[in-house]
Amino acid sequence: MNVLMVFAHPEPRSLNAALRDVAIRELETRGHAVRVSDLYAMNWKTAVDRADFLNLDADGRLKVATASSEAFMAGALTEDVKVEQEKLLWADTLILQFPLWWFTMPAILKGWIDRVYAYGFAYGVGEHSDRRWGDRYGEGRLAGKRAMLIVTTGGWAEHYSPRGINGPIDDLLFPINHGILHYPGYDVLPPFVTYRVDRLDEAGFAQTAERLRERMRTLDTTPPIPFRRQNGGEYLIPSLQLRPDLGSAEATGFSLHRDERSPSESGSGNG
Ligand code: FAD
Repeated sequence: MNVLMVFAHPEPRSLNAALRDVAIRELETRGHAVRVSDLYAMNWKTAVDRADFLNLDADGRLKVATASSEAFMAGALTEDVKVEQEKLLWADTLILQFPLWWFTMPAILKGWIDRVYAYGFAYGVGEHSDRRWGDRYGEGRLAGKRAMLIVTTGGWAEHYSPRGINGPIDDLLFPINHGILHYPGYDVLPPFVTYRVDRLDEAGFAQTAERLRERMRTLDTTPPIPFRRQNGGEYLIPSLQLRPDLGSAEATGFSLHRDERSPSESGSGNG
């Protein structure tokens, strides 16, 4: 299996870097090919601007999605973006690794998404009509591949539990798991989250490293989060609301978009 790790931490001696190396070692020992995009080490350009679109008219008004589409079609995206897109196509599995900063990913990683996920590559894919709303949410360019997050937090597990003050971790990570990974097609594995890491001692590190090795060993067999597929008949078009007969009456918000029924009840392996 080919694995791409996109890594966002500025310090090579950090806990995150140590965990990244544990994951790489385990994957390579098992014969997988691993490539790493170490965003700080690469001095990754974070902000989208005119310089991203090499065929843009110098006086033209910048409309980002249009410029992105035209540059993608013309092969006029910048070389750094093209290299990352090629890595995404190469990888069977994508891992995004980062410390939780302000309840989400560090800006450098968001900037990687903003720039690499071009129109026509990760969005704006497939037929858009009154019958179909594009190939997305389980379909799209990256369908058939797996993705997962490796995340560390300062907060305790209890703070991220269903009644915890920070909000449930699955809700906080939903915009990434569902909006960034499932959207262009990935099957998204449950995240690997390590809580309360700021004073992690050696014993804690050893335990975390072993849990992480186990997740790397089972990367190709772990069942994905059962996100519903947009074009599987569960959503009304064009409102894209979940059909009224699906989901429990009490469920609202993010949890509606997971199909928690067993595969035999839902009629598919992944809902
Ligand atoms: P490091 O600081 O590098 O290490 C953490 C501990 O691990 C250290 O004590 C270190 O000694 C120890 N350690 C043990 N073994 C090793 C080893 N082999 N190698 C390296 N270190 C080891 N937290 C939240 O919960 N929610 C937030 O919204 C949030 N927002 C933040 C915003 C910012 C801007 C910042 C700076 C922090 C925020 N935090 C938040 C905390 C943040 O998530 C943690 O500080 C981060 O996850 C720690 O990861 P690290 O790799 O930076 O750890």
